[in-house]
Amino acid sequence: MLFIYGRRKIRIKKYDDYHVKCDNCNSYEQRFSVYQEYFHIFFIPIFPSGIKTIQSVCLKCNDAFNGEKKNHYLSITRTPIYLYTGIILLVGLITTLVILNINTQKQKADYVANPMINDVYLIREETDNRSIIYYFLKVKNIEADTVELLHSYLQYNRFISTMNDSDYFVNDEIYRVSKTDLKNFLESGLINAVMRDYDKSSRFMIEK
Ligand SMILES: [Zn+2]
Repeated sequence: MLFIYGRRKIRIKKYDDYHVKCDNCNSYEQRFSVYQEYFHIFFIPIFPSGIKTIQSVCLKCNDAFNGEKKNHYLSITRTPIYLYTGIILLVGLITTLVILNINTQKQKADYVANPMINDVYLIREETDNRSIIYYFLKVKNIEADTVELLHSYLQYNRFISTMNDSDYFVNDEIYRVSKTDLKNFLESGLINAVMRDYDKSSRFMIEK
């Protein structure tokens, strides 16, 4: 548990300065080290925590007392970007998911606006007693503005994306809607997903 997450401190920059005199031994070799604490999960830096700190040491005598120029070196040191790795990954992941979702919604709208034979709609419907049911509708035929739909044999009480092994489309009952109806179905949330170009071995191909 101890090592899964926590705070670590690393040196993010080091400066060797040959113009600062050591108060102890009078030589001119001061090393300034800037440290930054950061929060990590499994040693991956998530974000910097706390403020930067600086230490100076004389490379000759190891005296660490000299404070001259500390503020200067502290102020010119920027926190390296890799200490934000976790935050950057998270933002990237969220951005990707948002873009994927926008693309899915766009494609769905495009499919509904331009129906093709064999398109399958996953319908999400709220029943009178406020429970949610799912079923499939399949485009059997399109004539001008009229779209003929087949209903799946089964309906489901939870979200699904493929048909149950005993499900199929019922051939002898055809529902006729207009293309405008389809758009309204989408806007009202009735059409939950649109499947097109699915595999020919899919159960969506089976009509009885
Ligand atoms: Zn010294």
